[in-house]
Amino acid sequence: MSKKKPRPTPVPAQFIPGLIDAHTHLASCSDDTATLVARAGESGVEKICTVGDGLAEAELALAAGQEFTNVWAACGIHPTKAQQLDEVARARLTQMAADPACVAVGETGLDTYWITHDPERTADLVTQEEAFRWHIDLSVSSGKALMIHNREADADLMRVLADSPRAPQTILHCFSSPLGMAKEALDRGYVLSFAGNVTFKRNDELREAARIAPLEQIFIETDAPYMTPEPFRGSRNEPSLIGHTALCIAEVRGMAVEELAEALNANFDRVFGLHGQ
Ligand SMILES: [Zn+2]
Ligand SMILES: [Zn+2]
Repeated sequence: MSKKKPRPTPVPAQFIPGLIDAHTHLASCSDDTATLVARAGESGVEKICTVGDGLAEAELALAAGQEFTNVWAACGIHPTKAQQLDEVARARLTQMAADPACVAVGETGLDTYWITHDPERTADLVTQEEAFRWHIDLSVSSGKALMIHNREADADLMRVLADSPRAPQTILHCFSSPLGMAKEALDRGYVLSFAGNVTFKRNDELREAARIAPLEQIFIETDAPYMTPEPFRGSRNEPSLIGHTALCIAEVRGMAVEELAEALNANFDRVFGLHGQ
């Protein structure tokens, strides 16, 4: 028999009005979308961006964005699935990017983790970079934000971004890189989106990035069902738990969490181009 202690059931933090979840995967969470959105609302979450990481998932994200007034979609092909980006996928993603419910192109980017650990599970780096460049071009031509996934590919990612046309907004989702990369990204005007791992004990460097970043260049996200914040690390994540991440960042910045939530909410509108909607 396992001696592992059962994990506690995660519960939301205090009610924090105006919260956002800038990157989540509603279709991969434990409940149906309506339940997840309602439960998030009860903890103060006002705006959610749900992400499709393959063509089928992007369809679900877009459908959620069309159905719920406080949900928007990011549509793209995840770097580890970059081989899926054939002509049919390109044509459909181009249509999706034109939909008002779609506010970002992605998640796209580079991921060398699986290339190192299990190359069968992922597209190779050449395929990933080609797909990444295609998504950047779609972001530019559609005027939608670029939602970036980066896992153990800092140098290549920054190189590709530097020599590509500039996206209207560039979001580094689940930002997990060293402080030097944070500073370079902030200098370039990118948005750092912090997930639950900013609350993990050993991640002082991430908290430092969250402390020094200009308020206008910060997002928070659950990346659910993964990356559950402390004190529920290891359990399944969902948007209603974003308040724990907000509390952590408010604390390192020495500001009231309500004030942080208000600023992030304005960032959501600006970065995703929701003004006037
Ligand atoms: Zn990702
Ligand atoms: Zn994601």
